[in-house]
Amino acid sequence: MFRFETDRALIESFRPRDRRVIEMPEGITFPLFVRDYLAWTETSGARVYLIFSAPGSRKPIGIIFRREPPGGEPATRMCDWCHNSGASHEVGLLTTDVDNRRRVGVTLCVDLRCREKLEDAADRDGRHPLEVVERLNARMFRFAQEALGIEPSPQPAV
Ligand SMILES: [Zn+2]
Repeated sequence: MFRFETDRALIESFRPRDRRVIEMPEGITFPLFVRDYLAWTETSGARVYLIFSAPGSRKPIGIIFRREPPGGEPATRMCDWCHNSGASHEVGLLTTDVDNRRRVGVTLCVDLRCREKLEDAADRDGRHPLEVVERLNARMFRFAQEALGIEPSPQPAV
């Protein structure tokens, strides 16, 4: 759970390297309260933005993914975060820069609407959606930490 007072605060949740070109989500107003995470797709469809916070933290973490065009045979893939399966236009490879030389990829729902899918499934099974959404959040953070080296809060200076 976190909130943004201004668009500038939202932009600052992204890494400095990602801040140059950011397309804001349509119809967004500030202050903005985010319950779980915020995800939106660029009008061009080329990039997908994600802002979430580490479990137990209120510091937002922003990641910009690039959608990789599905190549080869049409195939059904499974999202690494919500475990829903879909055709290549629904679940596909999203990549993000680690640094200037390296990119990492992860197979995800291309619109990052994992929460809605998990909540729907939880409703159908009569489970409380909070638990599954927390697990989703933990998977997002594990990716940020393991693939990009993002920590939940700045390390204290030594
Ligand atoms: Zn998903």
